[in-house]
Amino acid sequence: MMARAWLLVLALTLGACASAPLPAPWEDEAPLFYRITYTREPTPGLNVEVFPSRSFPPEFLFRQPGRVTSVIATDIKGNQFDITPRDGAVYLPGWTTVLRYRYPLVASPGERGRHMFGGMGEGDAWHVAGKAYLLTPRRVTPGMRAEIAVYGTRALLPWTPDERGVYQLRGLDLIDAGFHAFGGRRCTVHIGESVLEVALLGRFTHLSDADLCEWISQAGGEVLTVRKSFPYPRVTVRLVPVPGKTTPGEFGMTLWSSPPSISILVGQDATAESFAKDWVALHEMLHLTHPAFVPREAWLSEGLATYFTEIARVRSRRQTAEQTWRELTNGFARGQAAAGSRAMREVVAEEGNYMGIYWTGALFALHLDVELRRVTEGRARLEDVLELLAAPGSTATLESFGAAVDMVAGQPLFDALLARHLPKPAFSELAPLLENLGVRIDPGGVTLHAAPGSVLREDLDVARRPGASR
Ligand SMILES: [Zn+2]
Repeated sequence: MMARAWLLVLALTLGACASAPLPAPWEDEAPLFYRITYTREPTPGLNVEVFPSRSFPPEFLFRQPGRVTSVIATDIKGNQFDITPRDGAVYLPGWTTVLRYRYPLVASPGERGRHMFGGMGEGDAWHVAGKAYLLTPRRVTPGMRAEIAVYGTRALLPWTPDERGVYQLRGLDLIDAGFHAFGGRRCTVHIGESVLEVALLGRFTHLSDADLCEWISQAGGEVLTVRKSFPYPRVTVRLVPVPGKTTPGEFGMTLWSSPPSISILVGQDATAESFAKDWVALHEMLHLTHPAFVPREAWLSEGLATYFTEIARVRSRRQTAEQTWRELTNGFARGQAAAGSRAMREVVAEEGNYMGIYWTGALFALHLDVELRRVTEGRARLEDVLELLAAPGSTATLESFGAAVDMVAGQPLFDALLARHLPKPAFSELAPLLENLGVRIDPGGVTLHAAPGSVLREDLDVARRPGASR
């Protein structure tokens, strides 16, 4: 209420001097304020009130539209306008002081499948993506600010709230607002100096909260076999049960909020023993080890995470070298089946070809690691590229990643290696690479044997000692 009265005063003040030319008037002034209230009646949902200041651009957007069919705008005279979002877009009438809408967390009967973005959960524990329920300015500038306050439940958003419990955001945080949790239980995992805040969003048949958090702790610890320290000081993780499933990591996703936010769908009937074979939690954590690629380079980010998922597990001794190479070669075979005879360049452009994209990327990551070690006689490795590019919140392009590779290699390497992969049928480089490393695919699995590159291959399995320089 206080915020609203204050904004009214501000709106009047600005109205009085509206003729003054202000190039970006919403910068350095009242933040956009979101008041979010969880209510369970008639069904669980979020009542959202958005208080734009007078000078905000009038076009707002649900960045992932769907469940909100009516937004009530109230102007300074108290007039109300019922607006139907079109393709998620909402135009504010003049002098709008508040926008109100209700976001249903429960899927309507017509919606099919899982609703990791739109909302899923049970009881009073809910998972939703910020971009599904937050009405945000279409155009966001670097100086724009926003505040979010949550009432009626305990929330876990990607950001750290201030001492009043209010989230202070940059406008840019509204573009990918990450995953959010409302209600549920919590635990905290420490990895070195870093903290993982975990929300447990429902009931599990066999798993205690301690079991689930130990699993996240294991995955977080394995990140340290790749990076010298955990990549972010604080990251949030949401675990959502999936009824009728026994696989611990049913599905996971990391969103590039700042800091990134991780959510994992967990088989409700999974057991603690099944965590030994899980790779999903680790894979999502490993996405924290590389920069966000802008524009997206899914084959490279997924390739790095997929490759290191196998390498980290042998380094932590969760699996043997033979198991690691079996996992890798099985994955390459699945990728090859999905790629057919198409060039890597075509495969990585096929939006839905996950097997092809993940595993051509993983093969390239392996090849890159091998070449970096080969040309530097073992002094450098692929992790050095990640360390070089590491700064929380940093982004990279394919070009800047390539430049970092060349710097670590001490010579041009990246472009030539990529040119060996991209134009040829995907996985053309696989057979000679495995032969060089001394990995033979047998009907029963793989055999590791002496070969020109077998010492290098054995070295992949070993994490650097903490504190060791190159
Ligand atoms: Zn991934």
